[in-house]
Amino acid sequence: MTDHSGILSDLVTGDWVEPGTGKQYDIGIKDIIIKESLDGLEAELVAKHHKGKAITVISDPYTNDALGHRIYKALKADGQNVKEYVWDKPSCSEDGVKHIREATRNCEARIAVGSGTVNDTVKYASFLDERDYSVFATSPMNAYSTGTASVSFDGFKKSISCRGAQGAFFDLSIIAQCPKRLISAAFADVICRTTAQVDWLMSHILFDTPYTDTPYTLLAYDEQDMVDNASNMLSGDLAALGMLTRISAIMGLGTRFFNTTHSGSMAEHMISHYIDMFAGDKHPRSSHGEQVGIATITMSNLQNQILCSETPPLMRPTQLDKNDMLKRFGPNLADTMMAETSKKALDSAKADALNKRFDSQWEDIRSRLQAVMLPYEKLSSAMRDAGCQRTATELKLDNDFYREAVTGARYIRDRFSMLDIVDDSVGLRSFTQDMPI
Ligand SMILES: [Zn+2]
Repeated sequence: MTDHSGILSDLVTGDWVEPGTGKQYDIGIKDIIIKESLDGLEAELVAKHHKGKAITVISDPYTNDALGHRIYKALKADGQNVKEYVWDKPSCSEDGVKHIREATRNCEARIAVGSGTVNDTVKYASFLDERDYSVFATSPMNAYSTGTASVSFDGFKKSISCRGAQGAFFDLSIIAQCPKRLISAAFADVICRTTAQVDWLMSHILFDTPYTDTPYTLLAYDEQDMVDNASNMLSGDLAALGMLTRISAIMGLGTRFFNTTHSGSMAEHMISHYIDMFAGDKHPRSSHGEQVGIATITMSNLQNQILCSETPPLMRPTQLDKNDMLKRFGPNLADTMMAETSKKALDSAKADALNKRFDSQWEDIRSRLQAVMLPYEKLSSAMRDAGCQRTATELKLDNDFYREAVTGARYIRDRFSMLDIVDDSVGLRSFTQDMPI
């Protein structure tokens, strides 16, 4: 395993030089520290970014036991002006954000201790209040380093652009004690790089939509090591966990380079959003990373089938039927979904143009995409080794609903993906009948 931790610190200080272009970036986060233990360093890390401020340490009952109270005691012993708030029923919703703003309104800076819910709520609340915040993580995930918060409004999750953390701190000996399923979910939410990149690059090649290699150049330093060490992630091996934590942080930073989530969120995330929005009582209470995991397997299967074929797909104009959309999404959402899909839909002229390009350039197009794609078998076995669920059945998600999610996810956003290629050629229905489920 090669130690690429210097890349992350160079990124934070703005010293990382992009190979090929020589460019340097200001990524807007002041500190990312990943260590086997941060015991004894808590007060120093907080003082570095929030010196002299009235601080509230916010955790939930579990993360307070695991780490939050330790941080509170360390800041207190250091003479810092600190309070502790243990949030009994955390929820990253409009109400949850309101609750945290109210309950901690007298502080000048917030320290979040936790993972998705606590971090995203504190991030968004602090953005609205124009206050600084930093986070001590209790599991690996992308959310600590992003400039977005995922908050649910009336049951619908929205990803909102906002100011991110000043500092993100990772004590690996604490993270190693988090539930194993969170580690597997983090692995899935990073390895989806392969399907997101194929989709995003394909859209760029076919329609000249904006695209950049930078987030992938950064992820590539660690990806092979991560695949090779997939089985060590769950064993408590701190070096393997440190690598997953680092690559998750880099995945999150991908959103900060160009203010878009495209680099790590294409069709596999649209399938996850569909599950979140429409699974209703078929919802297995799966986490974001778990849903992204099974959707990444589905998208990889689809991309590998299309790109390993010497025969290009034969494109037809997109069939967008208002009655079908009403049946699927109901009157409130059908128009929104029609509008999103219309932005990327193929009319007959566009379908013809695509077929002409495929006829003359298919070998070139598919080899460019194959070059960034993990082979399906390699992806699938790495995910198995990392303890990820790989099918709807393993996730205890109703199989027919999952087929519906795969055929319907293309309507959710205007991002062009392999779902559009397949649906506008052979049709997604036939694929979903035969896919591993
Ligand atoms: Zn994700």
